[in-house]
Amino acid sequence: MYKAVMEMLTRRGVTLSAIAQVVLDIQIGYYPELTIEECLAGVDAVIKKREVQHAILTGVALDMLAEENKLPEPLQGIVAQDDFLYGVDEIMALSITNVYGTIGLTNFGYLDKTKPMIIGKLNEKKAGHCHTFLDDLVAAIAAAAASKIAHSRRPADNE
Ligand code: MG
Repeated sequence: MYKAVMEMLTRRGVTLSAIAQVVLDIQIGYYPELTIEECLAGVDAVIKKREVQHAILTGVALDMLAEENKLPEPLQGIVAQDDFLYGVDEIMALSITNVYGTIGLTNFGYLDKTKPMIIGKLNEKKAGHCHTFLDDLVAAIAAAAASKIAHSRRPADNE
């Protein structure tokens, strides 16, 4: 399943290194010596979790069906237009952030609001493309990886 998820992300224009860049960006202020390799390992660990894989497979499938005009109405219109009153994409993303506790939620809220880098790119509305679920999934993966790094670097753990 990991392989299928990785292929799906790649096909949708999302690389692990793009997500790792977001993680580095939000954590470098707290951990100046943090490396991109460590962020990449964190992102990879998040994507290895079964509940994360399930969320990605489900959300991206809905995005792809919306692009092909194959969802039943009124869902087709709602997902294709990324209706701002539709919150199921965020709810699905929360199943990813929940994996690493409440810091994940805070990080996700921040990324959802600021939409840096790859998240902002996915959120741009381009004709024929639907990333209603993917932008939230990517923000959630980055948020969860940032939380994992925060947990593993808690000063108390090193004493
Ligand atoms: Mg969305």
